[in-house]
Amino acid sequence: MKLIFLGSGSAFSPLKENFQSNMLLEAPSGKRLLIDCGTDARLSLAKFNLTHKHINAVYISHFHADHAGGLEWLGFSTKFESPPQKPKLFTHPRMIKRLWSRVLSGGLQSLKGKKPATFSSFFKIAKLKNKKYFTWASIRFELVKTIHVYNGKHLLPSFGLFFEIYKTKIFITTDTQFTPQYLMPYYQEADIIFQDCETLKKASKVHPQFKSLTTLPEKIKSKMWLYHYNPGHLPHAKAHGFRGFVKRGQIFYFKKLK
Ligand SMILES: [Zn+2]
Ligand SMILES: [Zn+2]
Repeated sequence: MKLIFLGSGSAFSPLKENFQSNMLLEAPSGKRLLIDCGTDARLSLAKFNLTHKHINAVYISHFHADHAGGLEWLGFSTKFESPPQKPKLFTHPRMIKRLWSRVLSGGLQSLKGKKPATFSSFFKIAKLKNKKYFTWASIRFELVKTIHVYNGKHLLPSFGLFFEIYKTKIFITTDTQFTPQYLMPYYQEADIIFQDCETLKKASKVHPQFKSLTTLPEKIKSKMWLYHYNPGHLPHAKAHGFRGFVKRGQIFYFKKLK
């Protein structure tokens, strides 16, 4: 099983430098799950000689365009394949209606000569078990709600993923603020953590700053990879006890233990 970081950068990383932090999980059977489909996904997949045809399933963590902005491309291009394909779409149930009405319907609703299209004209929308779990390639994924953008009134959460491959427990935060008190049970349980990390001088407050992450216990940092970082100079992650910054195109392999 392979976890490929198609990109490891922040939402607005220059294309020459990095792509948005979308990942691809590849099963030994050849099945592929795209973890988030941002506006760069078409280009970042092309770097691996992959296209929409290779995507059988997609997971969407939240509405920001670096995570969901490529869905119109994926929807249209799979629909107009011959024969048409319909990727499976996993997301938190509270997001489905709004993902369609606020993000996608403007472009996807009109199909020539037909009744208005719906979300399921393009994707097989999967039902989650207990609004929290889905299974893909025999792996059970737990959605972990994070506090991403909160203005005191409205919360835009993101849903991270916690799952296990061949006895390795993996936690991908997707986008979150620095909330160790809240995420600690997942940090503790995971064997490997992929944590979004901001390397801007001026904090956006919607991602944890590198400096804040250095205050985490050594034990947590020693299993933590940092991604979703900003363009430019990166601090020395290893010297601070982290595993490192994920590089664009980096692949993590998970093998069956003998
Ligand atoms: Zn993001
Ligand atoms: Zn975001």
